[in-house]
Amino acid sequence: MIQKHPTGEWRIKCLVPDLPSPEAVIPYLYEMSDNRWYANFGPINGRFEEACKKLLTTDGQTCFVSSFSSATAAMEVVLVAKGLERGAKVLVPSLTFPATALAVIRSGYEPVLSDIDPDSYQLTPEIAKACLAKSGGEDIAAVVPVAPYGIPVDIDAWEDFQVATGVPVLVDAAAAFPVQKPGRTIPVVYSLHATKPFGIGEGGLVACGEPAVIEKARLLSNFGFEHYEIVTPGSNAKMGEYYAAVGLVQLARREELEARRAHLWQKYCDVFAGASDKVHIIGSAGYSGGYSGGTVAIPANLLIETKVPIQKVVDACITKSIQTRHWYLPPLHSQQAFASCLQLGDGEKGLPLVADRLMQHMTGLPFHNFLSDDDIEEVAAVVLKATI
Ligand SMILES: *Cc1c(COP(=O)(O)O)cnc(C)c1O
Repeated sequence: MIQKHPTGEWRIKCLVPDLPSPEAVIPYLYEMSDNRWYANFGPINGRFEEACKKLLTTDGQTCFVSSFSSATAAMEVVLVAKGLERGAKVLVPSLTFPATALAVIRSGYEPVLSDIDPDSYQLTPEIAKACLAKSGGEDIAAVVPVAPYGIPVDIDAWEDFQVATGVPVLVDAAAAFPVQKPGRTIPVVYSLHATKPFGIGEGGLVACGEPAVIEKARLLSNFGFEHYEIVTPGSNAKMGEYYAAVGLVQLARREELEARRAHLWQKYCDVFAGASDKVHIIGSAGYSGGYSGGTVAIPANLLIETKVPIQKVVDACITKSIQTRHWYLPPLHSQQAFASCLQLGDGEKGLPLVADRLMQHMTGLPFHNFLSDDDIEEVAAVVLKATI
């Protein structure tokens, strides 16, 4: 939910994208102009994909990568590539950005909403197994776990789940590039939207250890053309040269961007360190996500959970012109478009849920590269005062 400022601009904004300067992009514009090649897997796009592939190849596990116009579009083509029956049920967590469920619907399937684990905020393999048992086992045709707020999922556990149940998995790691490891056989979708930790404007990637999965998704992103003929109906979900150019510049800035985010994250951890009984920072409970590429896994957003009702904190922030956002809330099961979806929770009437608890106790605080240490200290002081 966007918290509207009562009078004008927020003094301390929740999120400000950090993208390359125009000067840094200009050489690529000249290259494009020389090439007269602006879309359809051009040379800049090829270099960008190759660089992303290198970044995602860790522990010697080779992966294959294709680029897309957005994570949502990428999820759609990967879901279509699975070739499930029309109306097939696909399990997604109720706590996610709506695009996860929208991609399921746009692919001709039906989302089924699950609860999340109270510690990891994720739809875990254990929860998915419980849902399979509840639905009679045969109903759920695929699962789309989400790396919430950019916190990586345990991809190896999902590979095991896929083998044990035979139910295909696709991971929505939209906000977790490059910290989410791609699967050996499970495709992982990343977003490069301007608001994500690694933003290029609009864009998405799919990575997987299985080249055939990537080839199929790529083909479907180009209408479904195979040897000048449409074999499976696809879409136009390609990334153009302009975005790939921004991507190459952004890759050169990656370490600098990550160091900045790591500094801000640490600063928040420090300012709330003495108040862990009142304020819990989501993602601070030591997750590594199995990533070993040398990147510190800093979540996309700075979210806190408080014992007091979160509205108290939000109101205090508004008074000081500090913007907050309830990322991924309200949960899908309480949004109109998904109200009729089957819900598999522990509650008597569908989902009571961890996600509902978060609605009352969680919010996102300002977290972007243009914050100063003083800003963070001020935000923390306001939050702490409100949590007494
Ligand atoms: C941001 C986000 C998306 C959407 O990504 P786009 O590239 O904007 O389509 C999908 N799922 C999750 C979990 C996200 O955080």
